[in-house]
Amino acid sequence: MNKDNDAISYGNRLIRYSIIYTKRKSLEIAVHPDSSIIVTAPQNSDESKIKKKVKKRAKWIAKQLKYYKQFEPFTPQKQFLNGETHLYLGKQYRLKIKTGLAEGVKLKRGYFVITQKDKEDKKRTKELLYNWYYAKAMQKFNEYYDACLKNFPVNKSIIPVLKIRKMKRRWGSLSKQGTLSLNRELIKAPKECIEYVITHELCHTVYSNHSSDFYKLLGNAMPDWKKLKHKLELKMS
Ligand SMILES: [Zn+2]
Repeated sequence: MNKDNDAISYGNRLIRYSIIYTKRKSLEIAVHPDSSIIVTAPQNSDESKIKKKVKKRAKWIAKQLKYYKQFEPFTPQKQFLNGETHLYLGKQYRLKIKTGLAEGVKLKRGYFVITQKDKEDKKRTKELLYNWYYAKAMQKFNEYYDACLKNFPVNKSIIPVLKIRKMKRRWGSLSKQGTLSLNRELIKAPKECIEYVITHELCHTVYSNHSSDFYKLLGNAMPDWKKLKHKLELKMS
């Protein structure tokens, strides 16, 4: 998703930002709670000029980033305890961990019912849940991918191969070799947000950058993509 990030250096750090070209006349810099920095710039703006403006605001950007950083420790790390909530396709489910010989995970009336030989073994709970997530990701992502391909408004000369991967900083990516990778953590996001990430990457089969043509195509393929992007950021932060 952050394919064409630009960056400036400030002090000893690198500040990365993405540019969105729009019809508006003035340039706007926004720092989001997930620490992403989005520069909205008039069409045909010069990249070096944008960089200059970002540099000028670097102190302010650093301050915003610091502000959002303070909230991070308050996002508790998951402990895999009974009653704790975990996401699946945008919904919260509580853990119900029981002892049993046939280990596995089932989704039942708002609960992840996890059966394991030793219910105190939290490492095993996590393993079982993540194996389940991965199997679901394989199934659902392929399903959504096929639907997105079908609805995509441009004839594709190359149909990318879908891969599910562990990714640290991105929700999806498209390689030059034609692999569309999705972050396996996306299985926690709502269906329509997963479709947004897929469609974004499909647009990269036509435009490799984030030009205004790219966003025009994205808007065509998915008119409410901005709302979905925002929803994804909120859900997964
Ligand atoms: Zn992108």
